[in-house]
Amino acid sequence: MIPTPYYLIDKARLLENMRKIERLRQRSGAKALLALKCFATWSAFDTMRDYMDGTTSSSLFELRLGREKFGKETHAYSVAWSDREIDEAISYADKIIFNTVGQLERFDTQSAGIQRGLRLNPRFSTSGFDLADPARPFSRLGEWDVAKIMGVIDKITGVMIHYNCENRDFALFDQQLTRIEDEFAPVLEKLDWVSLGGGIHFTGEGYPLDDLADRLRAFSERFGVQVYLEPGEASITNSTTLEVSVLDILDNGKQLAIVDSSIEAHMLDLLIYRENAKLPQEGEHAYQICGKSCLAGDIFGDARFPAPLSVGDRISVRDAAGYTMVKKNWFNGVNMPAIAIRELDGTERLVREFTFEDYLSSLS
Ligand SMILES: *Cc1c(COP(=O)(O)O)cnc(C)c1O
Repeated sequence: MIPTPYYLIDKARLLENMRKIERLRQRSGAKALLALKCFATWSAFDTMRDYMDGTTSSSLFELRLGREKFGKETHAYSVAWSDREIDEAISYADKIIFNTVGQLERFDTQSAGIQRGLRLNPRFSTSGFDLADPARPFSRLGEWDVAKIMGVIDKITGVMIHYNCENRDFALFDQQLTRIEDEFAPVLEKLDWVSLGGGIHFTGEGYPLDDLADRLRAFSERFGVQVYLEPGEASITNSTTLEVSVLDILDNGKQLAIVDSSIEAHMLDLLIYRENAKLPQEGEHAYQICGKSCLAGDIFGDARFPAPLSVGDRISVRDAAGYTMVKKNWFNGVNMPAIAIRELDGTERLVREFTFEDYLSSLS
């Protein structure tokens, strides 16, 4: 048995998402690029590559990872490229997407040899959380002024519009796409491709996948554009668990179980968005599951089990792929979870372990 803690990527579950992506691509004609900022665990790329068209990125390193480890079509986006990065970025990219007209003009000469796009901000989104809302007041994420965009329209072949956030509501998606069609028609009519970004939860249980596909095809036909989607969370949702073990149990007015992991170090996104980890909830025996860092609020959440817990018992934390492994850190020097893949025959294969040397090399 692989020692805990480790992230366990379940290939069968990952493939369920991949088959939905494939169905959507086939029916809609849209291309799907993995958003590496959500999930960049490249040992899983062999399982994903046949079902997706490539990757999109938010930095030079993600871009290079996509080019070298995923291959296929590689989109380069960054909120701001630096003078030192731009030539290298262009050497990896099939398309480069600038965040502003200012960046497009600054790097006009260097980028003239590849297809270029601009990020368009429709000034609405589906995010209820200010921190993650690209349409928040004074947002720096993309251009919205049609006249300003029309001024550089001859330099670009497409736009990227990322405005959805875990949107499970197809009717809302449909309405908002209609708004984009109405407000940005003069721009859209001039383009060859439009990326609608990520944040559509179309691999979720019960999502009307075929309705989405038909809507995307209609959009593509109306403007004569190749549609792209950039699924991050939707690509890997529910595919991965964080496997941990109980190290200590105490009763401080509540039954507490301390495990060999830390929410701050290994599932940071949950702490930022103040969400509980997805823990077992079957049975009579309730425990609060706590991390082993010294942060007082290092708590995964409340769980229930059919029998009392003992030291050494293992617990699976569900849905541990998206915005999780990409954010793990060395806080408190807690050893990082290893990474393993559960093959289709059920065997677990260890693909990466982290050691003191990795901790040492993360600083100097
Ligand atoms: C974050 C992001 C994505 C992926 O979003 P998900 O919600 O994980 O699907 C795609 N495109 C851009 C530009 C992003 O910033």
